This record gives sequence, structure tokens and C-alpha cells, in this order.
Amino acid sequence: MEEDRLISAQVQTGDQESETLRPLRLHEYIGQTKIKENLKIFMQAALNRAEPLDHVLLYGPPGLGKTTLANIIAAEMGVNIRTTSGPAIERPGDLAALLTALEPHDVLFIDEIHRLNRTAEEILYAAMEDACLDIIIGKGPSARSIRLSLPRFTLVGATTRAGQLTSPLRDRFGVISRLEYYETADLVEIIKRAAGILRQEITQEGAEEIARRARGTPRVANRLLKRVRDYAQVWENGVVTSALACDALTRLDVDPAGLDLMDQKTLQTIIYTFQGGPVGLETLAATIGEEAETLEDVVEPFLLQRGLLQRTSRGRMVTAEAYRHLGLSAPQNRAASHDGGLFAQE
Ligand code: ADP
Repeated sequence: MEEDRLISAQVQTGDQESETLRPLRLHEYIGQTKIKENLKIFMQAALNRAEPLDHVLLYGPPGLGKTTLANIIAAEMGVNIRTTSGPAIERPGDLAALLTALEPHDVLFIDEIHRLNRTAEEILYAAMEDACLDIIIGKGPSARSIRLSLPRFTLVGATTRAGQLTSPLRDRFGVISRLEYYETADLVEIIKRAAGILRQEITQEGAEEIARRARGTPRVANRLLKRVRDYAQVWENGVVTSALACDALTRLDVDPAGLDLMDQKTLQTIIYTFQGGPVGLETLAATIGEEAETLEDVVEPFLLQRGLLQRTSRGRMVTAEAYRHLGLSAPQNRAASHDGGLFAQE
């Protein structure tokens, strides 16, 4: 289901062609000011000392620019980047092959690093800390361990779930940065930049209209821009205006706050079938006809972040804001219980 959603922050087929939209240097990377400023200093200091940059952990929701930043780090440091992901490293040998192929100061980027298996993770400890690789040769009583030294390198790890990282691994990162959802103003800049690269004319208001619906996520912003562009080229004289963006996105079932049909169905089910909640996750999922896990991982985070949904110990509840958003009036007693705390009427 998540694969089909226009507003999904996960990579989809069709996003690959937007590789050209990826900023290549730090000055092109819009927003995330704090992270950028810190990284700039750390990179400059490392370059001055002729050392590799310390290991960097980037965490935050998908589509916010972690992979982009890893590539930018390599470009700014003037080194190569090798890219892999936690689930792609099946055997310790896979990781050993990657590590031994590194040149001094190179960047090794491991996406979804929380999904690295235990043995691979343990190999990383020594590689990160002492730039060496312990490998076991042979089996049984004749097995012996040998230690190879590696060039010093920078590991950039990315994860959507920092909480799932073991502490020995987390502790080995010198720089830990959390990427935040983007402000609308930053998304407007991202959309205007992407439109420029795609040679698509767009007005300020057109960019704002798309930005408001992009769920704080550059990957979604770029994808919406590309769909709206199709309408502009067929319907109008090729310019993305606010009215055109609004019309196109409404047809694509993305509402003014970036909610799609799945989000709306979730809120409406809680309101109409469960009187606004609380309702348990499993019950809710069964009523909507989705897996509980899908609901929890791909639908809820955005609704929670926007304050449309609340998680309580008794289950999920919609907020007064959700009623407003759907053009409904919130029941009086619910509004009171909401203001007075969730358990005020218990
Ligand atoms: P993640 O690795 O966090 O899932 P990506 O780095 O793949 O996200 O970013 C998704 C897309 O969003 C990129 O291809 C790029 O075009 C765009 N993007 C991300 N961050 C920025 C940014 N700060 N400025 C401009 N474009 C960005």
C-alpha cells in the first residue's frame, strides 16, 4: 500500500530519475541549518588536520536528506563514497570486502544501519575505533583470528530508528545529528530549485501550494512537483500557478494539509465508527482493512506529528484539530476532556 501513495516518504520507482535533483554540495542543501553549520566546522577542522571526518550518524524520518548529506560529506571532503545498507550486508564477508576496498579518508555510507546483523556490527566496532579488521580463518580447533589494518575512514550511518541502535554502536559515532521535518519556507526553496533543474516555470504561490502539502519532506515535495508539472504541460501554458497546483493535487487526492485518502480514512473511521476513540491499534487496523504494522509505521507518524491523532494508553484518539480539518465540529464533551487532559473524565 505504502508503495502506491503519492505522499509516501519512502523511495518509489520514478524517484530514481530525480537523482539529478539531489544537491551535490553543502551550499545547495536547503534548510537543516544547525546540522549544516556544525558539519561545515567539523569538516573544515578535519581537513585542516589532514584527518578523516569523525564517524557521523544521521537519523530522522525517510526522505529528509540523509543519503544526500552523506554524498555531500564525501564531496566536500574530496573523497570517494561507498554505499550499502544494513539489510544488504548478509555475511561478515560482505562488510569485510567493503572495508578492505576503502581508500584513506573515504566515506562508507550504511543506510538503515539499525538493520545490520549482530556479527557485522561487531566487525564494525574495531573498524570504527581502531581501523582494523578481525577475521577468523578456518573452523573448529584450527580456527585462528588475524587482524588486518584498514585505512582510516569515515562511517556515515543513517537510520529512521535511532532507538533501535545498540549503545556500543551509537557510542562510536563522534557526530550524531537528527534531521528535522522541513519548514514550508525551506520546501518552497527546494521546489523552486527542483523546478529550475526540470526547466519548469513555477510561481512563488505555486511552489507554496505544493510545499504546504509535502508533509515536511523534500522527497514528497519533488514527487508532487513532478506530478503537477504533468498537469501544467497538458492543461495550461506550462506554468505551475497556485490554482493549477491546487487543482492538480486535489485530483491526485492530496488535501491542503498533505493528507491522502488513507490518512483521511483513518481519521474518519475513528470518528464515525469509534466516536473519536480511544480505539486499540489492532481493532482500528482490522476495521480499515490494513496491517496494524502498516498503520503504525506509515500512517500514524504524520497524523501524530500534525496533532491530528493522539496515542494514549487506551488506544488511538483523534484530536479536536482532526474534526476541524475534516470540516466537522468536535463533540462538546470531547473537546472538554481534550482540554482538561486525556484522562480528566475517567
Ligand atoms: P533519505 O536518505 O533521508 O531518505 P534522500 O537524501 O534520499 O533522503 O533525499 C530525498 C530527495 O530529497 C533527494 O533526492 C533530494 O532531491 C531531495 N532533498 C533532500 N534533502 C534536500 C535538501 N536539504 N535540499 C534540497 N533537496 C533535498
